[in-house]
Amino acid sequence: MSRLGGWKGQRIGIVERFEAGVKGPRAEVWIELLGFGDHPRKCSGCGHFVQSVHDWSEREIRDLPLFDADTVLVVWRARVACPRCGPKLEALDWLEPHARITNRLAENVARLCKVMPIKQVAEHHGLHWGTVKAIDRACLDRELGPVKLGKARLLLMDEFAIHKGQSYATAITDAETRRVLWVGKGRGREDIRPFFELIGKNGCKRIQAVGMDMSAAFEGEVRARCPNAEIVYDQFHVVAKYGHDVIDRIRVDEANRYRHDKASRELVKGAKWLLLGNWENLPDRDAKFRLNELLDANQPLMTAYVLKDALKELWRYKREGWARKAWENWMELATSSGLQPLVKFAKNLAQRIDGILSHCRWPLNTSVQEGINNKIKVLKRIAYGYRDEDYFFLKIRAAFPGKT
Ligand SMILES: [Zn+2]
Repeated sequence: MSRLGGWKGQRIGIVERFEAGVKGPRAEVWIELLGFGDHPRKCSGCGHFVQSVHDWSEREIRDLPLFDADTVLVVWRARVACPRCGPKLEALDWLEPHARITNRLAENVARLCKVMPIKQVAEHHGLHWGTVKAIDRACLDRELGPVKLGKARLLLMDEFAIHKGQSYATAITDAETRRVLWVGKGRGREDIRPFFELIGKNGCKRIQAVGMDMSAAFEGEVRARCPNAEIVYDQFHVVAKYGHDVIDRIRVDEANRYRHDKASRELVKGAKWLLLGNWENLPDRDAKFRLNELLDANQPLMTAYVLKDALKELWRYKREGWARKAWENWMELATSSGLQPLVKFAKNLAQRIDGILSHCRWPLNTSVQEGINNKIKVLKRIAYGYRDEDYFFLKIRAAFPGKT
């Protein structure tokens, strides 16, 4: 049985089964493991074999379930009298020195944590939430190790909200391997600086392009640190900004203009998500019909909506000359629209148009960034309060190990 159970160096003592409700809410099997008598034991401190035992103590250790029952091992643990380390626990290959569960149960827990929320894993094995989290965390630490920067040349940089949007964090991804390289708290210049310090001067020189939103902090820090990097604004972020700064602003202005026409006012007010979403993603024909009707009846909204699609097109060009022509066209339409939010947006973008045209040279894929964004939201939802940010950040890195 001790060979069957894989508890090397142990002999089985008493084995007893307790039905559900006797020891705990579930059935349990208790197995006593007695260390063999007189033989040299490996010291867990230095790894040398030691003949004499300092003392024995009894520990309750959880193992993988036996049939339908949780398994508790009552292990007699020897402390060797090591001439180098003093009294030290005997090293066992199936149990870490101060662990409360066997290595194979820990491995099983860590595997389940990759596909299930901690709470479910804890319920499955009848373990404490904190125990499961600690195991998963230790496993992720071991697997991911220190940040591996590889030979990243192209980066994606993005912020995401934590703690119900009260604070932010930033993820930096290798755009080619899609590995999340680094996650850190905050979204300011000083907050992302540790990443550049980590990759050092040479790593910074290697960076050729960085995809990002139009936040001044990211751009400022990249320009200051990476002498060879071009800034590439991400389509997903620029279009989202357009939605917020232009379409939604015009929607509010138009709703206010209809203050004597209640029906039209309600229609425009309620159309926020119709207007901000992608046409392809509208839920049904009815939504498309309503949006069409609204746009037909409202010229400013129609203009803003059509120019949104035209704006997206700028990322489709591979030749910079054509992209620039398309931009000049867009700029002309926007400034001649007479719509204040649109004119303002266009003027701002004109200052920074290089960040869009650079996409012709560095076609960083916007769907990668969007995918990471969405996955982080999912991780946050299933994580039942990742109060522990470092752990949450490890989970994000583990979710994007990259393709090699
Ligand atoms: Zn020792």
